[in-house]
Amino acid sequence: MPTYDAIIIGQGYAGLKAAKKAGEQGLKVATVEAMFPGGLIMSINELHPVPQGEPPCGPELTGNLAMDVMDSGAQNVSAQVGTVRAVDGGWEVQADGEALVGRHLIIASGARLRKLGVPGEADYEGRGVSSCADCDGPLIHGKPAVIVGGGDAAFQEAVALAAYAGHVTILMRGESPRARAEFVEAVVAHPAIEVISCVRVSEIVGSPSEGMTAVRTVDGQGSVSDLPSSAIFAFVGLEPVADFLPPDFARDDQGAVIVTDGLRTSQPGAWAIGAVRTGFGGALVDADADAHAVVAAILSDVPVA
Ligand SMILES: Cc1cc2nc3c(=O)[nH]c(=O)nc-3n(C[C@H](O)[C@H](O)[C@H](O)COP(=O)(O)OP(=O)(O)OC[C@H]3O[C@@H](n4cnc5c(N)ncnc54)[C@H](O)[C@@H]3O)c2cc1C
Repeated sequence: MPTYDAIIIGQGYAGLKAAKKAGEQGLKVATVEAMFPGGLIMSINELHPVPQGEPPCGPELTGNLAMDVMDSGAQNVSAQVGTVRAVDGGWEVQADGEALVGRHLIIASGARLRKLGVPGEADYEGRGVSSCADCDGPLIHGKPAVIVGGGDAAFQEAVALAAYAGHVTILMRGESPRARAEFVEAVVAHPAIEVISCVRVSEIVGSPSEGMTAVRTVDGQGSVSDLPSSAIFAFVGLEPVADFLPPDFARDDQGAVIVTDGLRTSQPGAWAIGAVRTGFGGALVDADADAHAVVAAILSDVPVA
């Protein structure tokens, strides 16, 4: 028999919000997190937009939320989910040797930043190749840095990085940015940020002794140039994280868990919320809406003692 009403995989914003809401509604919940609570926003010191009533700093926001979840009586397991399988009356989650059984499964395992997939990226990981402007920005104080991407995350992080780096160059594949107008305006107005469009990164250049030293680019005419840079941050999209799911869960060609009306996956009693699911809106308010909706759906199915 299941021990929990629901097992939530992931303590990003979606998973934490769902755990908090479920606890408030009297559901017995276990959460499983492989790293530390917070997910993608753990590295964002200045959120924009900020969900109403929350602090604007990602680590503070998620710290508060994690405390609320602990107070709600949820069982928090610090472990990596390896497999899940349907069992009599629910779902069994295997995480670092521990088996948890819940009547419902809430998949909130989010997404990771997509890699560029170019030579040098793996070689200089942690020696110039980074994904967190606020964590690694201070290490390149006054030096040149590159951001890759044309969306919200790239433009938002360029402004954060410019507080540390001497000069920030944004490299975009497209002709014009996809970022929101307010982020584009902030970048354009910033004297230390430059935008170069219609280029792609072909290699990250460096040496074993110096770490990365330049970003090699190719423009639309095929011209190759090396842009001197001490660091590179790629914000070129997200990849859903759900490797632990068995193949009978329907996923789209990007790996996102396919949900139908009401956040139901293709498997009964299993739900997907936040950045791991198809059709996710992208922002924290969307993750919050998912968390509320999934708890409401489960409540209509689980008798609360
Ligand atoms: C650079 C950047 C800046 C952003 N800034 C903003 C902003 O300012 N405002 C805004 O509204 N939105 C912002 N977003 C979007 C926001 O980050 C997402 O909406 C939100 O993080 C989605 O939350 P999530 O819980 O679905 O996923 P995630 O944040 O990815 O959390 C998933 C969690 O699941 C865990 N997990 C994964 N696999 C396993 C496993 N096998 N076992 C156990 N645990 C596992 C992960 O460790 C992680 O903690 C930003 C996104 C990026 C990339």
